[in-house]
Amino acid sequence: MIAIANQKGGVGKTTTAINLGTALAATHRSVVIFDMDPQGNASTGLGIPQARRRSNAYHVLIGEAALSEALQPTVVPGLHVVPSGVDLSGAEIELAALAKRESFLQRALTQRGDKHFDYVLIDCPPALGLLTINALVAAQAVLVPLQCEFFALEGIAHLMRTIERVRRAYNPTLDIQGIVLTMFDRRNNLSDVVATDVRSHFGDKVYQTVIPRNVRVSEAPSHGRPVLIYDMSCAGSQAYLHLAGEVLRREQALVA
Ligand code: ADP
Ligand code: MG
Repeated sequence: MIAIANQKGGVGKTTTAINLGTALAATHRSVVIFDMDPQGNASTGLGIPQARRRSNAYHVLIGEAALSEALQPTVVPGLHVVPSGVDLSGAEIELAALAKRESFLQRALTQRGDKHFDYVLIDCPPALGLLTINALVAAQAVLVPLQCEFFALEGIAHLMRTIERVRRAYNPTLDIQGIVLTMFDRRNNLSDVVATDVRSHFGDKVYQTVIPRNVRVSEAPSHGRPVLIYDMSCAGSQAYLHLAGEVLRREQALVA
């Protein structure tokens, strides 16, 4: 289980969840995208209408439904989504009043005895509240998308401290799978400056693959499709295929 997290909005979390998920599914792995964002962009981007979200991420989070009961198929063979639901927007406040509020998702997933999937990618909301914390507690690893813009590193220290705190209190083996640079614009000098800066800060944690800013990537969600289905040959699609390769290699290195 990999949490895709960054408390900034618009950095490419949802796009990465959808397209990394699609690329992993293309390698014959069973993949679930768990839409933890009340805005439901991952569900919409995968073409799941509201009517098909009756059993959703909220019900799984609070233990009312097993993961397998909330799954919806997508246009991609092997890729399912646990859709977001309206109740998710009130979940932070509801959970805040409860004991062990940080580990609801972890408990729900272990107690309901869910069938095995190769990957569950959690698309986190743009905040470091209880929904993201629940994702970090339940996950084995976290993947951080960073947009290539001037303020990219701002807020990252806070995210890293949160990860460290989750490690210490709840999930000692939580790994940083990696940091992926997104929306890289090679015509813009700033993108290069930011990329160099991030690499000097985080070294090997930064994937070699950089996701370019690509109009096909931004068009795909309005068609309810991953860009890998919408236009497999575009630069954005190719980048996500490469990223999936790196994610798999890092995982194998960890096991070895
Ligand atoms: P987040 O989930 O972090 O809020 P999104 O993945 O929703 O970010 O991306 C924010 C916006 O940027 C969306 O409209 C998305 O389509 C667009 N976008 C994301 N990645 C790219 C890219 N590589 N090229 C062009 N547009 C992108
Ligand atoms: Mg999002």
